[in-house]
Amino acid sequence: MEAETRDALIAALRLQLDWGADEALEAEPQDHAARSQARAEAMPERVEAPPARAPAPLRAQPQLLPASAVGTRAQELAAGAGSLAALREAMAQFEDSPLRETAMNLVFADGVAESGLMLIGEAPGADEDRLGRPFVGVSGQLLDRMLASVGLSRERDFYITNILPFRPPGNRTPTDAEIALFLPFILRHVELARPRHLVLLGGVAAKALLRSKEGITRLRGRWHQVTVGEGQALPALATLHPAYLLRTPSAKREAWSDLLLLRRRIDGTD
Ligand code: URA
Repeated sequence: MEAETRDALIAALRLQLDWGADEALEAEPQDHAARSQARAEAMPERVEAPPARAPAPLRAQPQLLPASAVGTRAQELAAGAGSLAALREAMAQFEDSPLRETAMNLVFADGVAESGLMLIGEAPGADEDRLGRPFVGVSGQLLDRMLASVGLSRERDFYITNILPFRPPGNRTPTDAEIALFLPFILRHVELARPRHLVLLGGVAAKALLRSKEGITRLRGRWHQVTVGEGQALPALATLHPAYLLRTPSAKREAWSDLLLLRRRIDGTD
């Protein structure tokens, strides 16, 4: 058996273990629903580890501009960036979001920008903020295992980022204003990375990029279109966020069927 096939099979088995396939062997019946409920209640979204130290401000208190001027500034900076490196620099220079003040790091992206597959999540959590890389905490690790089970690895097959580059304090859900503020940057990010396929992880990414009011449970499991630049339309699959899957293991069935959709589309067999 080829090493790659063996690794993919091992990854798929690990995922099954993760998802509880072995637990049927236990002597006593397990109430998975109650257990996952208790875990969900105990686990706030995206809180993956306490920060190593108190968040240090990246710079002095900003002079906040009126919202319209801030929006224009984000658009100008994003449009002026001619490469991913320049976009990262432009985002580092964008000083008009108070989220900068509480975050430790700008979290730009990870993985292979040229891979043709780009995943977009919500916003960094505590681990991501500390390390400056997206999806490195528990939900990112689950995501990596899920993708490995369909033969996709971060080192080779996909690129990953978030709608917001800064962690919202306490991992709260980003506000509509924060999403709108950073939208020019993520749209330019997609335009520069030029993926063949996008995956939108969770309701925040799906609603922001599809400009939809529908919830993720209605949007997931289907290909949509995201338009960037001068009308360039990209196929985008909406799916459940891995943090949601950690809280709601019963939803993994839907996530798995979304992954198969993605695999088939990449292989051109759908
Ligand atoms: N959740 C996200 O949406 N993004 C991350 O980078 C980590 C957790």
